[in-house]
Order: sequence, then C-alpha cells, then structure tokens
Amino acid sequence: ASQYHQVIIIGAGAAGLMCALTAGYRGRDVLVLDNAKQLGRKILISGGGRCNFTNQQTLPSAYLCSNPHFVKSALARYTQWDFIGMVERHGIAFHEKTLGQLFCDDSAKDIVQMLTTECDWAGVKVQLRTEITSVEKSDQGFVLATSAGEYRCDSLVIATGGLSMPKLGATPFGYRIAQQFGLKVLPTSAGLVPFTLQPDDKEKFECLAGISLPVTVTASCGQSFSEALLFTHRGVSGPAVLQISSFWKPGESVSFDLLPGIDFVQWYKTINAESPKLSLKNALSRLLPKRLVERLIELGDLPDKNLNQLGKTEVDSIAAYLGNWQLAPGGTEGYRTAEVTLGGVDTDELSSKTMEAKRCPGLYFVGEVMDVTGWLGGYNFQWAWSSGFAAGEAV
Ligand code: FAD
Repeated sequence: ASQYHQVIIIGAGAAGLMCALTAGYRGRDVLVLDNAKQLGRKILISGGGRCNFTNQQTLPSAYLCSNPHFVKSALARYTQWDFIGMVERHGIAFHEKTLGQLFCDDSAKDIVQMLTTECDWAGVKVQLRTEITSVEKSDQGFVLATSAGEYRCDSLVIATGGLSMPKLGATPFGYRIAQQFGLKVLPTSAGLVPFTLQPDDKEKFECLAGISLPVTVTASCGQSFSEALLFTHRGVSGPAVLQISSFWKPGESVSFDLLPGIDFVQWYKTINAESPKLSLKNALSRLLPKRLVERLIELGDLPDKNLNQLGKTEVDSIAAYLGNWQLAPGGTEGYRTAEVTLGGVDTDELSSKTMEAKRCPGLYFVGEVMDVTGWLGGYNFQWAWSSGFAAGEAV
C-alpha cells in the first residue's frame, strides 16, 4: 500500500520549508521528505551560526542566472520585507551587519524554529531519514519509492539544493531528477568560495595569513565589489574574494584596488610635503597593513626608498600597482567550502511565476538546485524564500 499526499516536497531546507508552509496554508495536504537526520542544517551553520537570512537591498541584479529576468517575478511576489515581517511576527531579534545584510541577534536556530512552527501551524508533515530511491511519473502525478515505502502525489517539488558542503549531505539528486524528466541542467561549479594560489604566489603570500584589508576587486567580466580581502594559509578569502569567485573563470586574473577611494598621487604630494624623509614603507603603513607593505617591498614590487627619493614616474607606477594589484588564482577550494553552487536546472525549463517544469506539469524546482545564484549577503536565502513561496502558491 502506498501513502498519498497532494504535494510532496523533497528537501527540508530553506526553499522546501517555505514552499511547504505556503502550500499548507492554502489547505494543501503536504509532506516534506528529507534523507537527513535534522532539518534546515544549512540554515543552522549559515552566517557563522547567526543566519544572514535576507538583504534589505535585494534586487534582481544581485543574482547570477543565464536568464537575468527570470528572478524578477518571484522576488517581487515574496520580497525581503515579507520575510522580515515573518521574522518580526515570531519576535526574533535581528540587526543589519553591513550592506543591508540582516542577521539574527541570537542564533540561526531561531529561523529554523520559526519555519518549523509555521509548518506545524500550516499542517505540514515533515519526515526525515528517508532515502528516495526512485521517482516515476504516473497517470495523475508521481510515484516515489523510498526507504520508508511508496508515496504518491499530484505535485512534486524538488528542493534538494546544490552541491556545496558535501559534509552536510549535499547530493546531486535534484539534477538527476531534472535530467530524468528531460530538463536541461547547466554545468555546475563552486561559487562564493575562497581562491587557492599558484605555487609561486602561495610562497610569496602565505606569510600574510590573517591579514585583512578593504579593497575593490574586479573580475575580467567587469563585475566589481568593494569589501574586505583576507589572506589565508591556503590562498585568499574574505567577502571580496567570495563575491568575485562567482564571476571568475579558470585561467583569468582578478584585479584588486588595494587603496579604494584614495588618490595615491594626491596623497603622496601632501605627505611628501609634510615629511619628505619618511620612508615609503612607513608612509604606506598608514594606509595599508604594515606586514603587507613590508612584503611587497621585500618582493621588489614596491621601492625601498624615502618619499623624497621617488620620481614622478615612480609615484605614478606605485599608484598604478596599488590600484590594480593582479592575482591569477590557481583555483578555488571547491564544493568543500563553497557557500553555493553555480549553474543547475536551466531556468528556461521552468515557469518564472510558479517554478513548474514547462515540459513536465506537476514537477517543480525551488531554491539552489536551479541555475540561480545570489551574491554573498543574504541573497541566496531570499531566493530560497521567494522561489519556495512561488511554488507553494501554485502546487
Ligand atoms: P538546502 O538548504 O541545501 O536544503 C536542501 C535539503 O535537501 C537539505 O535538507 C538536504 O538534506 C536535502 N537533500 C539533499 N539531497 C537529498 C536527497 N537525495 N534526498 C532527500 N533529501 C535531500 N545564504 C545566505 O543567504 N545567507 C547566509 O548567511 C548563508 N550562509 C551560508 C553558509 C554556509 C557555510 C553555506 C554552505 C551556505 C550559506 N548560504 C547562505 C547559502 C544557503 O545556505 C543556500 O543557498 C540555501 O540553503 C539553499 O536553500 P535550499 O533549500 O535550496 O537548499
């Protein structure tokens, strides 16, 4: 005997739970299945345990997708303000950390608790520790074979996320289902991920591990971000690097403006007039971490001279060097540490209003499994909420 539910959602993460509670409030009979022991594990570890649950400045332009218009409808129908409203109704205290990024004051557990409570109120059933072994189309819907027996449903929602952090149970399940039903899946790669360095650079910069500084980073495609750069034992990281990693292609260099917002030539003129005998090293250490300046001098990338010993061309070339510090990453740390997966189920296959597969009525994809990737800063969760809501209204 098999169990029947109107709606089955595979994946009890951010997108799956939002979809479930939305459909539940519409009176749908909803079952959420997940192979994990615990729901919402990624939410729990997100944002350093405080969950950056949305961004006040959420706009379609903060998303990478092969069809940039795709995200507009869902983001407009369930906005950051809608989610913030839910957080407020649950009395969860939160704050803006920077750049519109909203974090829980206390713990990401509050967000998981909120979603669990909403699912309860909406009459949603969640069943964990369930492996899905096969999914087949039937006359009226879908039949699932699972470790807990057979299930049937009219609408099936795939909310199994991407490939990042395999340790947390990420699987390619969603991509396989898409392919099984003839949907195109765009190549995937790690996004929001630290860069590793080529052996030469690693040797040069390893000693700077722990140093961070504000930069403006620019990728070959022209996309840029002004955030912090962090040197690590393995390479470079920090928000600036995580952001640009989503726009970087192997073999390309990235450019760092190490003095964002500072006109070095003007600054040099002023400080050289005040203290001409000051060394460039000591002068620059007022603008940049001292260890970084020392290293760049040791490497011969900056001259070891006093300010008054620098000629005009030398000053210009220091300005050009610091404003356009080039690094050719060896690669990324990959899915092991990536926050998101680029690529995934091609949005051309889906309705932007409902997330339903155009060529397989009744089958929906929500959240990170799709080819939609947000910038760092709460945008990925907002996509999970918005796409989950859109499907939840339709199933
Ligand atoms: P997930 O949340 O990954 O949920 C997928 C669910 O599907 C999981 O419960 C999983 O167990 C289940 N599942 C997978 N495979 C199967 C299967 N075969 N059978 C059954 N169930 C399955 N984004 C932000 O916006 N802000 C942040 O602060 C933030 N911090 C992050 C920190 C880290 C370390 C990481 C890794 C990511 C972070 N992200 C953040 C990204 C964000 O977590 C994801 O974009 C978001 O969780 C995607 O939601 P989802 O529901 O699509 O997938």
